[in-house]
Amino acid sequence: MISMMLRDSYNRQIRDLRVSLTDRCNFRCFYCLPHGEPPIAPKEQMLSYEEIEYVCEIFVALGIEKIRLTGGEPMLRRDIETIIRKLARLKVSGLHDLALTTNGYYLPERAQGLKDAGLDRVTISLDSLKRDVFKRMTGVDVLDKVLAGITAAKEARLEPIKINAVIVRGHNEDEVADFAAFAREYNVKMRFIEFMPLDSGHEWSREDVVSGKEIRDRISERFPLVPLEVERGSETSSRYRFADGAPGEIGIIAPVTEPFCGACSRIRLTADGQIRTCLFSTVEHSLRDVVRSGASRDEIIEYIESVILKKEPRHFINDPGFVAPSRTMSFIGG
Ligand code: SAM
Ligand code: SF4
Repeated sequence: MISMMLRDSYNRQIRDLRVSLTDRCNFRCFYCLPHGEPPIAPKEQMLSYEEIEYVCEIFVALGIEKIRLTGGEPMLRRDIETIIRKLARLKVSGLHDLALTTNGYYLPERAQGLKDAGLDRVTISLDSLKRDVFKRMTGVDVLDKVLAGITAAKEARLEPIKINAVIVRGHNEDEVADFAAFAREYNVKMRFIEFMPLDSGHEWSREDVVSGKEIRDRISERFPLVPLEVERGSETSSRYRFADGAPGEIGIIAPVTEPFCGACSRIRLTADGQIRTCLFSTVEHSLRDVVRSGASRDEIIEYIESVILKKEPRHFINDPGFVAPSRTMSFIGG
């Protein structure tokens, strides 16, 4: 069998697909959905699990090796275990990694069910270790529940567990080293993310961004770091281990101050079936309409290949006249 491969017009191979399962969310993170959910698209516009399975099977045949389920809050989707069960079957066809990004709220009760369905690992968002700051940043007073979710994910061996923290000036930059201590204690991979202009309130400002360099410096003051000697490839994070050999890992994702677009291998599929070739794309491509038009498998492949050729060379956050996409992170699927 000839193995197929998706390549964009800048010769980047596309290996990584992020699938948003819903636009809805039970949190109100101020950097994402500060003013609540925008009007929810009608259910019939959303991809069904059968459609998700069908298009993911095609993507894997085209060389996608990693699928990450995200949202909105993907665990609000009642059929998530069914979706995972179907996608896990693609492991025999070339899928290496099936992951989920979640706010962790539902993990205490459902982590084991996700593992049993075939999920490999989870990334859990955790923006503060302090109850009041967590509440201020996420809009909900559930820090204990998310911490219990991390424990449940560990017990279910949804590993390696990554923890995402968006660091925003005036909110949680003073906790960066505490998060590093958390990574050591819990033996998890901490991922610090620069605040990006993808909030629904369009209130992002450059002054609120805590740079990757500042994050690295703050950690190093308490815990000296050593860069990991791994090929970075298309990874979004620069990765470090602790110099004293403690468990845990640090990763810094700095799309604003240290863009990594040249090595990008990602595309996204929104919950309503639109392909987005960049987080910051201002255009979308309706795979849903093509699939529902009764197109043959070959026609769908041709469509996907033509869309990939339109992938942007880079994001334009740092250019004068940058226009943030109208859809926010909760729609796009982070
Ligand atoms: N609801 C799930 C969660 O929060 O983990 C999955 C979806 S969420 C959009 C995925 C990731 O995007 C989260 O880790 C979140 O912190 C991050 N995110 C959301 N808005 C962001 C922004 N404006 N800048 C940087 N990261 C952001
Ligand atoms: Fe919801 Fe995740 Fe956005 Fe927070 S970051 S509002 S948990 S989708």
